[in-house]
Amino acid sequence: MSDTLLTPVHDADGEPFWEYAARGELRVQACADCSELRFPPRPCCPHCQSFDSAWRPMSGQGRIWSYVVPHPPLLPAYAARAPYNVILVELTEAPRIRLVGNLVTDPDAPLDSVPPDQVRIGARVRAVFGSDGLPRWVLERP
Ligand code: ZN
Repeated sequence: MSDTLLTPVHDADGEPFWEYAARGELRVQACADCSELRFPPRPCCPHCQSFDSAWRPMSGQGRIWSYVVPHPPLLPAYAARAPYNVILVELTEAPRIRLVGNLVTDPDAPLDSVPPDQVRIGARVRAVFGSDGLPRWVLERP
């Protein structure tokens, strides 16, 4: 088994998300007709059924809506880093949109850089981007 962390699977609808992330930008797909934000990315607007979309820049600010601390059995690369956190972030501009990620001390810090007992629901966070182009989260006030 591999001892490397999993990398995101890119599909045609989500590819722009990862392209912007690689440039350090957090963007969310929006309907080009009714402006409703949607995530995960998909071809059709669930509100007005339009197939036209745009990628709207987000501030990267949000708050921890929930979190988990994964327990074994874990893939070997994750078992080596346990305990670590997985957080669900509610975006400030789009409270109905929640992104999954890890709370870390800086963009390239390891998964376990913030101990699970320091994660709090409601804490303000902001998106940062590691050198691998993956979005992660840091506390606004560590
Ligand atoms: Zn729409």
